Amino acid sequence: MQTLRAVTPQPPIATLLVQTESLRTSNHPQFQRLLEVLHQQIPRMSAHERWQLRYLDAYQASFEGDYANAETMLRDIIDHSGDSILMTKASAVLMNDMGSSKRYTEAFELANRLVADLPKMQDQLTRFQVLFYLSQLLKSAGQYDLAANYARDMMQMLPAGETSCKPQAMLLHVFHESHQLTSTTPELQQGIEICQNAGEPVITDSLWLIKGSLYLDEERPDKAVALLQHIAPGIRSNPNYYNTLYLRLKLAQGYWKLGEDDQAREAALDVLATASPDDVNEALRDAYEVLYHVEKKHGNVTAALSYYERYVAQNIGYLNDVSARTLAYDVAQQHMLAQKLETEKLSKQNSMLRLQQALAAKTIETGRLYIVLLLVVLASVIYWLFRLKRSQLHFKQQARLDGLTGIFNHQHFISEARRALHLLERKQGSACLVFIDLDYFKQINDTHGHAIGDAVLKHTVAISKQLLRTNDLFGRLGGEEFGILLFECSPGQGAAIADRIRTAIESTPINIEGRVIMFSASIGLASTQTSGHDLQRLCRDADAALYRAKHIGRNRVIAHTELGEHTKVLDAGNMGQ
Ligand code: GH3
Ligand code: MG
Ligand code: MG
Repeated sequence: MQTLRAVTPQPPIATLLVQTESLRTSNHPQFQRLLEVLHQQIPRMSAHERWQLRYLDAYQASFEGDYANAETMLRDIIDHSGDSILMTKASAVLMNDMGSSKRYTEAFELANRLVADLPKMQDQLTRFQVLFYLSQLLKSAGQYDLAANYARDMMQMLPAGETSCKPQAMLLHVFHESHQLTSTTPELQQGIEICQNAGEPVITDSLWLIKGSLYLDEERPDKAVALLQHIAPGIRSNPNYYNTLYLRLKLAQGYWKLGEDDQAREAALDVLATASPDDVNEALRDAYEVLYHVEKKHGNVTAALSYYERYVAQNIGYLNDVSARTLAYDVAQQHMLAQKLETEKLSKQNSMLRLQQALAAKTIETGRLYIVLLLVVLASVIYWLFRLKRSQLHFKQQARLDGLTGIFNHQHFISEARRALHLLERKQGSACLVFIDLDYFKQINDTHGHAIGDAVLKHTVAISKQLLRTNDLFGRLGGEEFGILLFECSPGQGAAIADRIRTAIESTPINIEGRVIMFSASIGLASTQTSGHDLQRLCRDADAALYRAKHIGRNRVIAHTELGEHTKVLDAGNMGQ
């Protein structure tokens, strides 16, 4: 079942809260009405919204002058709401209330805290309100320059929905109290217009009252009274304690100056009726002064004396109050200075500490960087050493090999052969030295060109390698001459291997560029068994055998014999002869 209710649509609670707060100075009656509406919504509110409402309630209590009740609520908000914005706003209202209830020391202590928090205040409206109350409190302590500065700060950052009315008015009140205004100061009229346009009747009236007061100071009571009478209905419809009080006081003073004593008395008595009985303030003092003058003029000595006594008491009270405010400010200043020094010392210590930490962190970081750098350098050194070693090895290898055929070059073949023969000699092993020389190689070069000559040399090496063991030494001794040192080999075995090489060369022509080139080799052989292990001797004998092979017809193997002068001829047809 659906329940139908004829209700006007209501904005969400959050919007209502913001709306209500914005009306608190400009339209206080509406503020109070909305506050009642909000109270009906309490069951539907979140915890945070309830705290916001509590702040508005506290504001209302403070507005009504119920400072005790306001303080309970404000302290509750400060201690328990956990909302930094609300806490700041509550502190500002509390500070203002303390100022109003003459608890100046506490007010200035709070002021110090709020000033210290100002740089951290992000919320513009909160900042604006705090600056407003600070300016007000400093004005009451006679700190006009500071008060003016805070009012100007308010103008620098107007929050959304605010006009320059409040800061402008605050500035004008400061100027008024420090006697810097005349009734014709243009800023005063401008301020009045700004606040009128901003829809701030209470503030506008407070500025009109300044103007009226200035007319009185300038001994133009007629203008003053005319103005005051003109604004009176407005002040009555927007009741505000101070505006009401001062309107009545200024009227009393105006009428007195105009000689309209009855009206002066009436207005002055209205002032007494407006204020609380045990209040001490400037307005009461001035009202008693008017009453004293009026009664004295009319010969009412008793009344005059009584008013005079009240006037003196108020004056003393007022002067005491002024000095209490100033003293409280001075004490707070001392505290603040001490605190500031303490915090500066602390922050200096902190920054020193931070610096040390940063330095330590930097040192560790630099240390790490050095290690990394060192490792990188070390790695690159190792890498380059490795590269160097490898290329050295490569070059060394290159230096040992014959560039064309890739087998040992002459020098390396000789040194390796010498070393091997030394070892063999010690363990009495045998070896055969074989010298190979290609037959009529010059002709191959001449007929087919040098490049083909080179190919023939490589071909020869490839054929021979196939018939050798891996540990046999094979080198190019120069041109088309090659040397082989065969290990663990008798002269017979050596001759057999040599002849297999010769046969292979003879029977494996090279097929290149469409040409088949046949060629042969003559081979001389010497054995350690007949020539001993001296390389020089072996070379000489192998050379002699080779020479012999050439001499007797080429394409054959001649082994040097033990007797030296005899050579044994081995060739394709007559091996073993
Ligand atoms: P034989 O040994 O049968 O008496 O006649 P040969 O024609 O082989 O005589 P010799 O040993 O005098 O000639 C060797 C030739 O080898 C001379 C030179 O032009 C050639 N020669 C030397 N080194 C190279 C080389 O690296 N490449 C080529 N293509 N030819 C070379
Ligand atoms: Mg030769
Ligand atoms: Mg030759």
